[in-house]
Amino acid sequence: MSDLNRRDFTKIMGAAGTVAAGASLFANVAYAQGKGKLVVVGGGAGGATVAHHVKKQAPNLDVTLVEGQKTYTSCFFSNLYLGGYRSFESITHDYEGLRKVGVNVVNDWATDVDAQKKTVTLKGGQTLSYDKLVLSPGIDIKYDSIEGYSPEVAKIMPHAWKAGVQTAILRRQLLDMPDGGVVVLAAPPNPFRCPPGPYERVSMIAHHLKHYKPRSKLLVLDPKPKFSKMALFQEGWQEHYANIVEWLPPEMTGGGVKQVVANTMEVVSGDGERIKAAVANIVPPQRAGEIAHKAGCAKGDWCPIVPETFESRLVKHVHVLGDASIAKKMPKSAFSANSQAKVVVNAVLAEMTGKKKFPARFRNTCWSLISTNNGVKVGASYKAGAESVEVTSQFISKTGEDADLRQRTYEESIGWYSGITADIFAKA
Ligand SMILES: Cc1cc2nc3c(=O)[nH]c(=O)nc-3n(C[C@H](O)[C@H](O)[C@H](O)COP(=O)(O)OP(=O)(O)OC[C@H]3O[C@@H](n4cnc5c(N)ncnc54)[C@H](O)[C@@H]3O)c2cc1C
Repeated sequence: MSDLNRRDFTKIMGAAGTVAAGASLFANVAYAQGKGKLVVVGGGAGGATVAHHVKKQAPNLDVTLVEGQKTYTSCFFSNLYLGGYRSFESITHDYEGLRKVGVNVVNDWATDVDAQKKTVTLKGGQTLSYDKLVLSPGIDIKYDSIEGYSPEVAKIMPHAWKAGVQTAILRRQLLDMPDGGVVVLAAPPNPFRCPPGPYERVSMIAHHLKHYKPRSKLLVLDPKPKFSKMALFQEGWQEHYANIVEWLPPEMTGGGVKQVVANTMEVVSGDGERIKAAVANIVPPQRAGEIAHKAGCAKGDWCPIVPETFESRLVKHVHVLGDASIAKKMPKSAFSANSQAKVVVNAVLAEMTGKKKFPARFRNTCWSLISTNNGVKVGASYKAGAESVEVTSQFISKTGEDADLRQRTYEESIGWYSGITADIFAKA
């Protein structure tokens, strides 16, 4: 039995960003008639959670969710799919649950935001007006940060850092590669989506190689000298994949991968070494999804927010959450995005329906699977400070833990996945 089942998850997340029923004065009298319009762009971990919970708690509000894709394949647990532990279907979700609770799900891409007129333009030509806008578009890949890399080349050397087609390409390549081939993984510089993600991926690819391509190697070129849960991952790699994984810090490669040559499947390091790859998983630097930039919410690559509400510091009546936001100590994770979503729901409902607003509290836990039944985790609780989200307590798995505890940690993560996807997508 999992330590963290669906009910536990709902309880925890409720406490993390509670929206209570007590009424207070309306912040805006126009909302008093219950005719407010909320538009949410991005139906992933952050945006779909906001749409779900606003509609559930204020059925009279007009809630529209704009999402470009018909189904959502989660990055979270996509590494387990690469390792052969999950099916593609089990990490893919539809929007029927959200439609059933009354969210107007529009399957289109938002192409522009006019913050003066308070409208969102869609690729299909429609214009949506809003009273409040929530943006949770996730990340875009900075293709031009690695010479030779592009959306076209990503079909041959996948990043698989946005899940779906990219993840399926990488899995197919890992299945088809010759035994004895070299897999190269280019890790990204900070900050990026899911700090332990590249290293869980190393573990899952190594697990696959150990069982199906035992003469193969996995080279990890990292531009960072240290990374999340480093001691735990390195202990696990030593124990399970000592002859397979080689992690190369920046001083050994001249700073990581600088160039790729797709037609020869070569990866070139910062110090000029050329590595011939059977599979090249290139994860470049990232930035907030394009629509957040179009809306004027970004400063540099990411979007500054007011920690108490996740309202944009740059554009009024727009909230930005999830990976696109600058939440400082809070990592870019689905758990974080879902937790931030509860705070955004709280803030939006306070303004649009007069519900009492509670102080913002957040939580995050990132689980990673190292080998079969060998799970580790890192996490923290947070509060909103004046300038940034602040840590109030934190925890991390220890090296040398016994197999029983590691198995329970893994089972906890399975309960979490089932709970969070039900919470995001309004699954019964
Ligand atoms: C390999 C990997 C493993 C991970 N593992 C974990 C894990 O174990 N635990 C964890 O908590 N997190 C994990 N993450 C991180 C997690 O996936 C992200 O942090 C999370 O999905 C962020 O939520 P979001 O709402 O910001 O963006 P997303 O979930 O990416 O959602 C953004 C949505 O917006 C849509 N969109 C973007 N632009 C537009 C537009 N203009 N118009 C319409 N729709 C648009 C996209 O199609 C997408 O559906 C992992 C990430 C990776 C890459």
